[in-house]
Amino acid sequence: MDFELTDEQKDIIKAAREFAEGEFPDLAQECDRTEAFPRALWKKACELGFVGVFIEEAYGGPGLGFLEHCLINEEFWRVDPGIAASILSATFGSEMIQLFGSEDQKKRWLPSLVQGKAITGAAITEPDAGSDVSSISTRATLEGDDYVINGNKMFITNGSIANFLQVLCMTDPEASSRHSRFSVIRIETDRKGFEANKLKNKLGIRASDTAEISLNDVRVPKENLIGTPGRGFQQFMVFFDHTRVHICAQAVGLAQGAMEQAIQHVRERHQFGKPLASFQATQFKIAEMATRIEAGRTLYQKAAWLVDRGKVEPDLISMAKWFTGETAVRVADEALQLHGGYGFIGDYDIERFYRDSKIVEIYEGTKEIEKIIIARKLLGKY
Ligand SMILES: Cc1cc2nc3c(=O)[nH]c(=O)nc-3n(C[C@H](O)[C@H](O)[C@H](O)COP(=O)(O)OP(=O)(O)OC[C@H]3O[C@@H](n4cnc5c(N)ncnc54)[C@H](O)[C@@H]3O)c2cc1C
Repeated sequence: MDFELTDEQKDIIKAAREFAEGEFPDLAQECDRTEAFPRALWKKACELGFVGVFIEEAYGGPGLGFLEHCLINEEFWRVDPGIAASILSATFGSEMIQLFGSEDQKKRWLPSLVQGKAITGAAITEPDAGSDVSSISTRATLEGDDYVINGNKMFITNGSIANFLQVLCMTDPEASSRHSRFSVIRIETDRKGFEANKLKNKLGIRASDTAEISLNDVRVPKENLIGTPGRGFQQFMVFFDHTRVHICAQAVGLAQGAMEQAIQHVRERHQFGKPLASFQATQFKIAEMATRIEAGRTLYQKAAWLVDRGKVEPDLISMAKWFTGETAVRVADEALQLHGGYGFIGDYDIERFYRDSKIVEIYEGTKEIEKIIIARKLLGKY
């Protein structure tokens, strides 16, 4: 067993850390306040090769793994979760093309994402269908050579800035099995009938765009279908097995950043004539944070390493997602607590990290859904 990252992976971490530390702090508060997507910085990150590193060389990427994408996520989220989310989620949804697209689709649709010429997303959730993915109702009907699509999608990352989205649609409502009714269809956002409404006032990751989408008779060529008709639900379950590990890395990066802020504060702040760091209660908090972070990092890196070797273990990924998500929320909470009243004031980064932390327990499967997946593996389906 070898837990050592390769020299190349260590170099990626170093470069990602330098980029984030150099570029994010000046923009972080402003992007949080204005809820603005940092477009110029996203382009720069693309130019430097941080975006879409898991995209294969044949399709314009460097052909690294999901683990490398995780390592960049961790470093970026350590410095600012909002900016990190906005930059690295620009390829969210491309995994569907890479995993299930035809050769021609991959060649046509993937390179622009790495080159900083296009942004994408994945649209599954609807106003009345979140955790229960198979209850989505967006309908795609084949008319001649086109799909005509009607429905509403909710909480879609990059919804109002994306060039195209991979959308879960119902294509065969009469299919005998509930899970065979769906297909994945790419929708370009400049199509007639496509409307995105940016959702403002999010609790956290406010630099990341989130929108509700309405699709009114949106017409796309049938060649926009990705994968197999009727297998959209299953394709998205496989997709999540790949993308969920990224959320774990986001969570670990956020927790690491929050802990480092706490360490700096408890060393500097004196009460009762001593630094806060000298109190054993403080030391215990820091020790617990560090232990949780290390456990979470080991768990997600193992899961990502297996994904890159084609040995996807959904229950292990769910364990990592639940555990790292809870770690992020707990660590951010304790780190803010160690800042006392100063933590409650927006001038300190920890206030933003505390707000940003909650999302990792919600998107791409809530912690409850992750536990259901783990329990199902152990107990069978009830
Ligand atoms: C900022 C943000 C970005 C997002 N980005 C995207 C995106 O890009 N694409 C996309 O498709 N979606 C996206 N989402 C949606 C996200 O994936 C969903 O919010 C999430 O899956 C939960 O669905 P829901 O909000 O409908 O909650 P619900 O499914 O209504 O769940 C509400 C609560 O009930 C619990 N619950 C539900 N079912 C069960 C059960 N069987 N047993 C126990 N507890 C249960 C849940 O765990 C949760 O605590 C995003 C959401 C946010 C907030």
